[in-house]
Amino acid sequence: MMQEVIAEAEKSLLHTYNRYQIVLDRGEGVYLYDIEGKRYLDFASGIGVFALGYHYGDFDDALKAQIDKLLHTSNYYYNLPAVEAAKKIRRISGMDRVFFTNSGAEAVEGAIKTARKYAYLKDGRTDHEIIAMQHSFHGRTMGALSVTGTPKYREAFAPMIGHIRFAELNDMDSVMAQLSDKTCAILVETIQGEGGIHPAQEAFLRDLRRLCDERDLLLILDEIQCGMGRTGAYYAWQRFGIRPDIMTTAKALGGGVPVGAFLVTEAVGAHSLSAGDHGTTYGGNPFAAAAVSRMIDLFEENHILEHVREISACLEEKLDDLVKRCDFIKERRGCGLMQGLECRDAVGTVIDRALKAGLILINAGPSVIRLLPPLVIEREHVDEMMEILETCLKEGVR
Ligand SMILES: *Cc1c(COP(=O)(O)O)cnc(C)c1O
Repeated sequence: MMQEVIAEAEKSLLHTYNRYQIVLDRGEGVYLYDIEGKRYLDFASGIGVFALGYHYGDFDDALKAQIDKLLHTSNYYYNLPAVEAAKKIRRISGMDRVFFTNSGAEAVEGAIKTARKYAYLKDGRTDHEIIAMQHSFHGRTMGALSVTGTPKYREAFAPMIGHIRFAELNDMDSVMAQLSDKTCAILVETIQGEGGIHPAQEAFLRDLRRLCDERDLLLILDEIQCGMGRTGAYYAWQRFGIRPDIMTTAKALGGGVPVGAFLVTEAVGAHSLSAGDHGTTYGGNPFAAAAVSRMIDLFEENHILEHVREISACLEEKLDDLVKRCDFIKERRGCGLMQGLECRDAVGTVIDRALKAGLILINAGPSVIRLLPPLVIEREHVDEMMEILETCLKEGVR
């Protein structure tokens, strides 16, 4: 049955993914089921989207209630769910103003436009530069692609938007080498996701913050993958006592409903985008906003951050133990429930084997196994994952 669906899909869909050879049908808790009824423990959560797993609490009911009321209004009018969602996201992020988008890439586009406009209003110039990081990932639209630090993603689509320079993550000298009197912003993923789970170090982020303050540059943190509770804080930078000027968030924000946002401080909000500068048809529509609003409530009511801190300590301990016992793994990197295992060779076969054994994992680059489970996993799920992973690794190094 699955082979027929896959063959049909390959006739119709543009071939932009080498998909795993399963057809998923439904989810329950932290498990997914394919259309033949096989069960998978989900340690990818739709690339960090299903933070609360499938059908958590009354999340679905909140969505259904909003469907019955109003799905969409356009941004020419106010709607209650967007007001509620904006208020809540300000509270959990400590940022001041919100612009809702439909995706992560669109949030990055908005962040870039905000930074350029802020600089433009200061000096009227139109040649400002942004410093982004090597190995970063910010999305597939032209602006987001232009700041993505992996040349193979960009190459065929040149020319990029221009005036982007790349520095090494966690290397202040390399940032200083790219700095010029045209620099208007520095863009960093607080933890690089696609690039292989590389956390920005606290000292690096503090140095960037200081540099930005000294020169009135904007610090933009991309929290699309690492944000919304994944590290045990709502946003990963909150662990470091700094605050960005602009922040992007998406993936887990809507718990499966496509929604993102960029957020700015009051100072940036007052001196950047104004009426007519930016827009979106769908962004922050009542349905997406109801999802954001209920997600944040469920995080608070169920103490999700505390749970992440507890369960991730258990996961890290087990992974560190595995690293010691397994020659194939070089090291563990990451924080909270965003973990990467850097291996000595390609990890594709290990991931394929895990899938056959009923465990969904993803990679982050060719040699890193990436773990992004739902934030609501329990010890038994960690144990189940470890058992399958270890078996698959043993077969892998045989
Ligand atoms: C996934 C991701 C994006 C892009 O988000 P989309 O919703 O796929 O456009 C941008 N930045 C980071 C850090 C991401 O992980």
